[in-house]
Amino acid sequence: MTDSEQKYSELPEPLKGRRQLSKNDTFCFDCQPGISCFTQCCADINILLTPLDVLRLARRLDMSTREFLDTHTMMPITKDLHLPVVMLKMSDAEDKRCSFVDKNGCGVYEDRPWSCRMYPLGMGLPPARAGEDPVPVYVLFEDDFCKGTKEKNEWTVDSWKQNQAVPEREAFEVGFQEIVSHPWFIGGRQLDPRRIEMFHMACYDLDTFRRFVFSSTFLNRFELEEDLIEEMRTSDEALLQFAFRWLRFALFAEPTMKVRETAQKPGRNP
Ligand code: SF4
Ligand code: SF4
Repeated sequence: MTDSEQKYSELPEPLKGRRQLSKNDTFCFDCQPGISCFTQCCADINILLTPLDVLRLARRLDMSTREFLDTHTMMPITKDLHLPVVMLKMSDAEDKRCSFVDKNGCGVYEDRPWSCRMYPLGMGLPPARAGEDPVPVYVLFEDDFCKGTKEKNEWTVDSWKQNQAVPEREAFEVGFQEIVSHPWFIGGRQLDPRRIEMFHMACYDLDTFRRFVFSSTFLNRFELEEDLIEEMRTSDEALLQFAFRWLRFALFAEPTMKVRETAQKPGRNP
């Protein structure tokens, strides 16, 4: 098996059998309110949410992250995944429409999730390998219901991502991707349930993570810069960035945090 075949066989199931796009490959696509298939893509689909998706949608809907997770998401259990994923819950009605779509289109358009921005592209990250940075694999969804791929506008992966303001979101979530594809997982290692819970809280339930940081002994146990502490009090984004940093310490024992000397006791957990 060649390297590229190996990577392809490791892609998540929904991406297999799709046309792969390399850097300079082009595809045609356009999506406008007048198109005959308008909003048909917003039903009965698996939309994985990133930490920033959850945060932005919760804030847009004026909900706490916990309320948003309970109301609008589900966590499928699959034994192939080493970390839990959060998916947008479709409505219970027969057509399984997304709760945010109506005849005018996406009701959360400015804060729509990463997957919705990327469509008709999909991206998979092959599992981490020793000494290699994981390289994303891009595929094109050519779904029959979507007429957008019959339009004339031509894109590359990069130009489409630029058009959808994806690069800035990905830059913000680099720390998250580094956790998900961390070399610690090479060889199929599994985190224990307590660490999986930490991952879920810190990445997706930011309001609970805020209480964990500010209403526990956390700040007594770790040495943190004063201006960072102040920033985290008022900025969700700063707190989420910090969550990614703390997780590297808590999950993989990386030295991203400094434990206060007074807090160091034998056998103490992060
Ligand atoms: S063109 Fe495709 S992405 Fe756009 S509304 Fe139609 S089905 Fe959805
Ligand atoms: S979030 Fe918006 S774009 Fe994404 S499926 Fe729902 S309505 Fe469609």
